[in-house]
Parts: sequence; structure tokens; C-alpha cells
Amino acid sequence: MRAWFEYVDSLVGPRGGCLYVDVLSAGLPNVNVTTSRFWERTPAARREAGAVQRAVVGERDAHAERAAHNAQAAPQSEAGPRSERLLAIDNVSLEYRSRERIVRATQDVSFDVYGADRFVLLGPSGCGKSTLLKAIAGFIEPVSGTISLAGEPVRGPGADRVVVFQEFDQLPPWKTVAENVAFPLRVARKLSRAEARERALHYLDKVGLAAFADAYPHTLSGGMKQRVAIARALAMQPRVLLMDEPFAALDALTRRKMQEELLRLWDDARFTLLFVTHSIEEALVVGNRILLLSPHPGRVRAEVNSHAYSHASMGGVDFRESVAHIHRLLFDTHPEAAREAHR
Ligand code: ADP
Ligand code: MG
Repeated sequence: MRAWFEYVDSLVGPRGGCLYVDVLSAGLPNVNVTTSRFWERTPAARREAGAVQRAVVGERDAHAERAAHNAQAAPQSEAGPRSERLLAIDNVSLEYRSRERIVRATQDVSFDVYGADRFVLLGPSGCGKSTLLKAIAGFIEPVSGTISLAGEPVRGPGADRVVVFQEFDQLPPWKTVAENVAFPLRVARKLSRAEARERALHYLDKVGLAAFADAYPHTLSGGMKQRVAIARALAMQPRVLLMDEPFAALDALTRRKMQEELLRLWDDARFTLLFVTHSIEEALVVGNRILLLSPHPGRVRAEVNSHAYSHASMGGVDFRESVAHIHRLLFDTHPEAAREAHR
């Protein structure tokens, strides 16, 4: 359910959104759901959430300065010589703060994502990948550093960034598949009922689910639910599609099929993708650039170019050597490996 709440929050906007995630982040109780207002909090939870938010130190002033910097011309990237820098993550540190403790999730992370990149964040569980994605989605504010999208500082959730989560329960169960895809189009994109349905059916067709438009989510397999979530995200035509281990809970065969489908969709529409995984193989296959993050708290270890790999190269000598190389970069604390990582 949490994934769905976060998704709805991204549509509802920063006022409710950030607060809600902070309530969850702090592990606070008393969160209720209503279908009419999406969610409600009891006064106690609201007070606590306020306290949590106030405790989060922001550096908003730095954003404006950064915006000018980001407006500079972008260098070349894998996605093509004319692609522009869309996302600029600059020295971002992220923390979870509660009354009892502070957990530092990432430390001074920097990277740029260009238009039509398939950029992968790769690192072991707990290194802060999801937290980074949430910060880019606008749910969490950095304690230091800046995040900009197309030269504008990210100040909260927005329909220009849509997240697909790992969990299969990110679809409201009382809506049909088509209604699930159409709903955000009506709320955030202000499409009419007919326009939203038409666009929903178009994207459901793209993920091979046209025949299931009027089915309810509980009648679908995990892989099909993820296809709906992907169709819903693509239908929004976001500037950046954020995916947080979207295939991690699927069986190996379905996972591979979904990776192939995602790459086909990308080939078709050339959207900009920021994809999180802890699987080296998945990173190599899905990404054209991979950012390697060290274990907790996540720091940048290296950036690897992976545009040459596909499912066809899996099992080959090159591919296996790259997997071993990345594994060493991620986990080897030997001084030489660390030097190599920072080269
Ligand atoms: P990943 O997605 O790479 O597995 P996360 O971003 O989920 O890692 O978590 C990074 C770190 O932040 C971990 O140490 C995790 O325990 C901590 N963390 C994640 N969510 C919360 C939360 N809501 N409150 C406190 N700490 C959290
Ligand atoms: Mg995660």
C-alpha cells in the first residue's frame, strides 16, 4: 500500500506528499486512508509529522544558485550528441531523522542524467538507492547538496517525475486496469474522461495488456501488475521515469521478459530512465550508464559505461568480466581497488 500512497502523493503535490512520506519515514502510526481524500491523518500523527519535517534541515537557498549552473550546455552522452542534461544531482546527502536517531542514507552523491539516458543506480541493499530516488521524486529534501530537473531545483513531487515501485500493490484495487492508468491523467494532466481512457488504452496496448483493460488488479499476475504500473507511468509522459527495483519481486523468466519489454518501449519512445537495482547483471542489460554506490551510507564509487551490453551478451566472456569488475568496484575495500574506483 505504501507504494501506492507515495504514487498518489506525487500527484497530490508537495503539501500533502512530503508530509505523508515523512510520517512513514519516521515510522509513525495513525495513518488512515479514505477513497475520497486519498488519505487522512489523525491530529496526533499530523503534529508528529510536522515535528519531523521541521527537523529536516533544508538548503533551499542553494537551489537558485544551482539552477543557473545547470542551465549550461550539456556535454555529449551515450544517448546522442544533442541530448540535454535533464537531472543534475550535486553533492547530495540524505538523512532520515527522528527524535531517537539520525540515519545518513547517502553521502555527497553527484551525477548527471541526460535526455534518453538509461541511467542505473547500482549498489547493495541499504546503500540509499531508494532514498535517492525519493529525493529526486521530491518526497525527501537533501540535508545538503542540490537536485535540479532541467535547470530548475526540485522542490517537491510533480507529474514530470513518475515512479514505478517494486511492490505489486501500487494499483488501487477498486479501479480497473484502464481506470488505474487513466486516473492520474485526469488528476495531474487534466485530460477529459474520454481522452484519458483513450491514452490509457494506447499505453496498455504497448505493454500487451489491451485485453485486460477492464479487469481488476487482483485478477492479474505480478508481472502483469508491473506492466500496468509501467503503462500508467509512461502514459503520464514524464520528463524522467523513475523505477525502483521494478522487477526484483518477479521470477527470473518474467523478470527477463520485462527487461526486454522495457528496452523495447525505450527503443520506441526514447524516454529518460533512472533505474534502481542491486543486480549487476540487470544494471548491465538495462542501463547505458551505471553509477556504482558503496555500501551504507551510499557514496559514488564509480561510473561505468554499459551501452554495449544486452541480453544477447549475457554469459559471454566480456559480460562476465564486466560483472566481476563491477563486483570488485562495489565490494573490494582493498586500497588498489578503491584507487581504481576513484580514477
Ligand atoms: P536501498 O534502496 O539502497 O536498499 P534505502 O534507500 O532504502 O536503501 O535505505 C538507505 C538507508 O536508510 C538504510 O540504512 C535504511 O535502513 C535507511 N532507511 C530507509 N528508510 C528509512 C526510514 N524510513 N527511516 C529511517 N531509516 C531509513
Ligand atoms: Mg530500495
